[in-house]
Amino acid sequence: MKITNVYNKLYKWPRSVPITNGLYTYTHNSLDLIIIETDEPEITGIGIAGNTPGGNVLNNASSKIAEGFVEYFKGILVGLDPLDNEALWHAMWKPKLVGRRGISTRIISGIDIALWDIKGKFAQMPLYKLLGGFTNKVDTYIAGGYYEEGKGLKELAKEMEDNVELGARAVKIKVGAVSINEDVERVKICRESIGPNVKLMVDANNAYRHYEAIEFARKAEKYDIFWFEEPVEPDDYIGQAEITKSTSIPVAAGENEYSRYGFRDMINSRAVDILQPDGIIMGGVTEFMKVAALAQANDLDIAPHGPQELHIHLVAAIPNGLILEYYRDSVNPMHGKIWEDELYIEDGYVYAPDRPGLGLVPKWDTLEPYRIN
Ligand SMILES: [Mg+2]
Repeated sequence: MKITNVYNKLYKWPRSVPITNGLYTYTHNSLDLIIIETDEPEITGIGIAGNTPGGNVLNNASSKIAEGFVEYFKGILVGLDPLDNEALWHAMWKPKLVGRRGISTRIISGIDIALWDIKGKFAQMPLYKLLGGFTNKVDTYIAGGYYEEGKGLKELAKEMEDNVELGARAVKIKVGAVSINEDVERVKICRESIGPNVKLMVDANNAYRHYEAIEFARKAEKYDIFWFEEPVEPDDYIGQAEITKSTSIPVAAGENEYSRYGFRDMINSRAVDILQPDGIIMGGVTEFMKVAALAQANDLDIAPHGPQELHIHLVAAIPNGLILEYYRDSVNPMHGKIWEDELYIEDGYVYAPDRPGLGLVPKWDTLEPYRIN
């Protein structure tokens, strides 16, 4: 088999109300689909590239940068065998001209995911089985709890109750955009609304200095927090390690980390308790599996950041997959409208799809009005 074409389709749609985390406000959602065609007419790979955070920075200039990288990598890949995943990953990575983090690595990620989709379709196997097949169902949490105009404690509590109603046995909220005492109040309300048996996580999205994070953790500890995510800047391994040592709440991070080298440094710094690689950002399936093995050798668990459509396969494939992140309509207004077969939570779990590859069929007609390239 040979690769005949590589291109991307970029989509962006508005939110009815902007959502804010510890540092940023998002007015839009977006999606960057990477499509790889082969000389086998019935085998086309679909990948997702994480180059479009929140959609806000996705404008004419940044979508051109994304397209430019896709075009550049296409020049490397056309004519090669899509089943040679390692060779292709290294052919894209090795020249170093394009950088080892940032958008170029995010595009490599999307391409690598599409190549694994091709391998799954060729083998007629779902990706999670092809990669290891540890289980077919994984614990899942619903991410949300953003700050929004007109959303007070009552509305926040209602969102959490709705999450539990949708089948979640774990929920996550944002912290870091208001005073520590106000956030502790938000945590308290959420704990009360979900009861003692649902897990509760908090995510600061890098908003704190390490001493603020330590203060927050000290005040929030009594509400039984399952993890404290990205308390400080992603490169502040020492700060993360100090927080990790100072609190009984496990610290989690990794959504802004890249490649096995970045995760090696995080692990060696004893920075965090739980690793959160995002396959659409840090290097794709190929690199994710290496990080998962590195984590396993250090007795650390993986709780990936990012879209459930990819990560259901990656968590289900590995023995140290802790829990799956899940975005519902409160985070993405197009939830349930993008894919032919949407994933839903059943009794706290998401089941891995048994379709070949990633098993993703985009609803092209629904997406088309939002296309921007
Ligand atoms: Mg996060």
